[in-house]
Amino acid sequence: MLYKRKMYTKSVLITGSSGYIGSHFTKYFTQKGYHVFGLDVVEPKKELRHYLKDFLHTDIADTPLVLDYLARHKPMGVIHCAAKALVAESVAFPQMYEDYNVTRANAFLETCISSSIANFIFSSTAAVYGEPLHIPIKEDHPRSPVNPYGETKKKFEDILLKKHHDKEINAGIFRYFNACGADFDAELGECHEPETHLIPNVIKSILEEKPLHIFGNQFSTRDGTCVRDYIHVIDLAHSHYLLMEQMIQSQMTDNIFNLGTEGGYSILEIIDAAQKILTKKVHFEIKNPRPGDPATLIASHQKAKTVLGWEPQWSDLETILTTAWAWHQKQ
Ligand code: UDP
Repeated sequence: MLYKRKMYTKSVLITGSSGYIGSHFTKYFTQKGYHVFGLDVVEPKKELRHYLKDFLHTDIADTPLVLDYLARHKPMGVIHCAAKALVAESVAFPQMYEDYNVTRANAFLETCISSSIANFIFSSTAAVYGEPLHIPIKEDHPRSPVNPYGETKKKFEDILLKKHHDKEINAGIFRYFNACGADFDAELGECHEPETHLIPNVIKSILEEKPLHIFGNQFSTRDGTCVRDYIHVIDLAHSHYLLMEQMIQSQMTDNIFNLGTEGGYSILEIIDAAQKILTKKVHFEIKNPRPGDPATLIASHQKAKTVLGWEPQWSDLETILTTAWAWHQKQ
């Protein structure tokens, strides 16, 4: 007798699904065949709606609603992207960052655990390292954040790692270096209000014909401007997909990964590349450095390569700049 095999669709809940990174993850996981359940305090843009199986418009710490949502959908895993993520804002309002990134994130984690969510991936950041002692930065580099944003991400990492250690949940942590670029169909892209990130500001300076402000040119780097490791958002999405697939199969032992390219560009090099690739002039002015900006941040990604088989594929400047440009031009 022939039995019909029941096929299960994999499923994931993504917090911050309306944001820059969460929206790209939503589309990517849907294209990989997952059911994606979104959760955000901001409604999804219309381009994103059809990638979401369901959407809950609320705060991560709205426990009764989140409990009900998890009970209805029973996702195999959660990707927790929702956070306050502006360094300067965190310096001005540290309590708000503590409240959102630690207290409410903790409430959300407890809700997940009490709902028997098996797998939990946390979006962390290179900001947990602070001023690096050596480059490239490996995952076991001491964590010594230099701003409240990095501090709150470090605190939640520790809360999550304890739950993982106690086997209450299977946790994975990704520390992103400089996320950038946009979806290849130009449906989704990077837009923060206010915009503080370099790549969108380079593009905006071209489109709005306003000079880009370069924050400092006296750093100890090859041309005096800060060097960063720029990683395409679709490379980030792919790493989360690989980790979620592994976590669904097994309990992770090695579970903290840097996500970067192991290379870096200075601000002047980004400007130079933008001028060549987009064939536009970028005007700029040198301003004072921002407080807490390290001169150089470059990741080692050997752990992600060894454990997940992940390597960046789309993080060349040509792909980063052309995808970002295509999306910005449509806005
Ligand atoms: N930066 C700049 N002008 C801008 C935005 C950023 O000079 O309009 C610099 C910033 O000081 C840092 C680098 O570009 O040295 C990358 O900044 P971003 O905010 O994109 O990422 P971060 O490394 O701070 O997370």
